[in-house]
Amino acid sequence: MLTVYNSRTRKKEAFKPRNGKKVNMFVCGITPYNSAHIGNLKTYLNYDIIARYLRARGYKVFYLQNVTDVDDKIVNAAKEANIHWKEIPDRYFTEFQAVCKKLHITGVSKYAYATDFIPAIIKQVTRLIKKGYAYEKNGSVYFEVKRFKDYGKLSGQNLAKLHKSTRLEIDENKKHPYDFVLWKARTEANEKYEPSWKSPWGKGRPGWHIEDTAISEHFFGPQYDLHGGAGELKFPHHEAEIAQQESASGKKPFVKYWVHTGVVTVNGAKMSKSLGNFITGKEMIDQHDPDAFRLLVASRHYRSPLPYSEKLLTQAIHNLETIRNFARQLKQIKARTGSLFTITLYRKQFFASMDDDFNTPSAFATLFTLMRKANTLIRQEKLSVKSAKEILVFLKEVERIFGIPFVMRKEASTPKEVTAIAMQREQFRKEGKWTDADTARDAIRQKGYEVRDTKGGFEIIPLSK
Ligand SMILES: [Zn+2]
Repeated sequence: MLTVYNSRTRKKEAFKPRNGKKVNMFVCGITPYNSAHIGNLKTYLNYDIIARYLRARGYKVFYLQNVTDVDDKIVNAAKEANIHWKEIPDRYFTEFQAVCKKLHITGVSKYAYATDFIPAIIKQVTRLIKKGYAYEKNGSVYFEVKRFKDYGKLSGQNLAKLHKSTRLEIDENKKHPYDFVLWKARTEANEKYEPSWKSPWGKGRPGWHIEDTAISEHFFGPQYDLHGGAGELKFPHHEAEIAQQESASGKKPFVKYWVHTGVVTVNGAKMSKSLGNFITGKEMIDQHDPDAFRLLVASRHYRSPLPYSEKLLTQAIHNLETIRNFARQLKQIKARTGSLFTITLYRKQFFASMDDDFNTPSAFATLFTLMRKANTLIRQEKLSVKSAKEILVFLKEVERIFGIPFVMRKEASTPKEVTAIAMQREQFRKEGKWTDADTARDAIRQKGYEVRDTKGGFEIIPLSK
């Protein structure tokens, strides 16, 4: 039985979607005003694995993610660079997608841009005003928080305390400091930096929280199965979403399972743009094997913080190599009679871990136990071809779930010219011409392959993309 930790009830619960095997899942997307950092990417890797696992378990997942392509941050970035506002999200969302591709983040069914849903947003705001949950002032519209009794429930806040402790945006239009904006009257006369749309309240643009509920209602209706996002979004963002959608529809709960991820930390502090202690996703994939970063994220529980360090990344690079070497060895096993080795128990344990609130570290532990056991048999020449094949089938199943290619498929098709250079290099090595050997190695790398020296000669491995 699949269980999921639900932040709404603060309990691990049996996962029972509203419509049998159909899962409607929404995750808060990026605001593309600069480069996404690896803290942002951890979240998307976590949900990518969750979506992949649900699909592997036979669920039909519609994974929706919004793109906040209109926001104060975008207006400010456009002003600073003196370019049209649209260029900012275009540039950074394109970069984000390129990074996601390298990290095999492929689980999202639909990316929905906020600016494509302005009519839906206006409709939801209008409903909230009609029902008495929102008010207009000087062309802006606000949600009146005191009208919604459950405000603060998800994050465990209480309005009285909140009033004193939270830094709130000062806005004289608000009846109460904790009311939040649904529609923002335009402030700039310059359309180049600040986009605006016609509305019943004059020209303006949507607030951040309302785009999510307008988009999710458009695709899923007023109630759906799973909402994800970084834990730091619980308040005020997710509280605001609940207030908006439950007030607009009168139906509870808006979302059945709230799922939140842990942050990336550096030396104990949260990785963030404001602290300046971040590594961008682009830097990560340019400097390291993207699969190693994916493995690093997958080897921690999604709800736990990830204390990022070079040392942990190096460990992940090493682990990735260990698994790949293991797969390579399995492929080379030929006609050994071998001893009894059965995959069943390991496979069962692996799925039991994943069923337990997507416990990827425990699932990895099972994989490593299997590898140790099988490696012993390989060394003793006791692993049969049949067992090796069974393990490879399982490894491919695991790689589909984690989104990390473990079993290389291109080895058989190494181009002849690459093999020729490698043989030439081997000759240089025999003759002690080390500089020439190194030049040959670089030439092989340029062609996307790595040559490795083994006891019996050398092997050629495709460089991971
Ligand atoms: Zn959101």
